[in-house]
Amino acid sequence: MERRTFLKFAPAAGLTLSAHPLLAQGLSQVAAVQRFTVGGITVTALSDGYLQLDASLLNGADEARLQQALTDAYLDPSRFLAAVNAFLVESGENTVLIDAGTGTAMGPNLGQLDTHLQTAGVAAGDITHVLCTHLHPDHVGGAVDDGAASFLNAELVVAQEDLDFWTNPDIRAGAPDEARGFFDLAVGVTQAYADRTTVFSGETSIAPGITAIPLPGHTPGHTGYMIEDGGESLMIWGDIVHVPPMQFADPSVTIAFDTDAEQAAATRAQLLDRVATDRQLIAGAHIGFPGVGYVAAAGEGYRFIPTRWQYE
Ligand SMILES: [Zn+2]
Repeated sequence: MERRTFLKFAPAAGLTLSAHPLLAQGLSQVAAVQRFTVGGITVTALSDGYLQLDASLLNGADEARLQQALTDAYLDPSRFLAAVNAFLVESGENTVLIDAGTGTAMGPNLGQLDTHLQTAGVAAGDITHVLCTHLHPDHVGGAVDDGAASFLNAELVVAQEDLDFWTNPDIRAGAPDEARGFFDLAVGVTQAYADRTTVFSGETSIAPGITAIPLPGHTPGHTGYMIEDGGESLMIWGDIVHVPPMQFADPSVTIAFDTDAEQAAATRAQLLDRVATDRQLIAGAHIGFPGVGYVAAAGEGYRFIPTRWQYE
């Protein structure tokens, strides 16, 4: 039911669902799993695939500006492909998945997380926690399979503000038709984990070395997770940036999926300043795989510096 609802909505939202030529041949990129360490914690970036985002989804940048930004970044100016990444955090007894990919909710170029988890040597039953950055389908679609929990031993961890918003039937009733699939999927996920859901609000320690940091705007409970150990840290920031070639340079550009665009832009401006000042390593769900790097001030905005391969 979630798949049908979302697929009906997807083309209207400017999402393209035709299969990538490699995937159509049953081929995948090998580098869909990348491991690195944060102190004694192992973090694994996992690709779920990608989706195409059109200029019509942006507020504050028209097609010509997006094309220019893509050209400047040596990307195909005719279409922008956004990564969909999730992150596995192995710390002590905990095997934590931060976001769960799309599952079957969003077409053939996505839904590869479970395959890549297996490549990483991790079984679905090994996952102890699924931490949601927010309840959008590209982050929690993979937490369910045909309506049932995909991770049978995992606790679902979600911000109170997101749970309250996406499972509220009155808010759903007042939402545009094309957005209702988002609510239905969120309800399906929270029902599948009803007996093992942990809800938090505000900055909260979730597990040793993992702290939830509220980053509201994209959704009411949109959350980043700070991973810290041995003097090293990584901020997994969810959907602070959807279109890297545009939004690092101009953080005021927002996307149609933002629940509160003004708050999303303010949160982005604040966080980019903070991570640039602190030289904080970050990871993003929609930054080109593995989506890990640094942010530096550049002109009136910022630029993204991908992290180097971790040789040792
Ligand atoms: Zn997203």
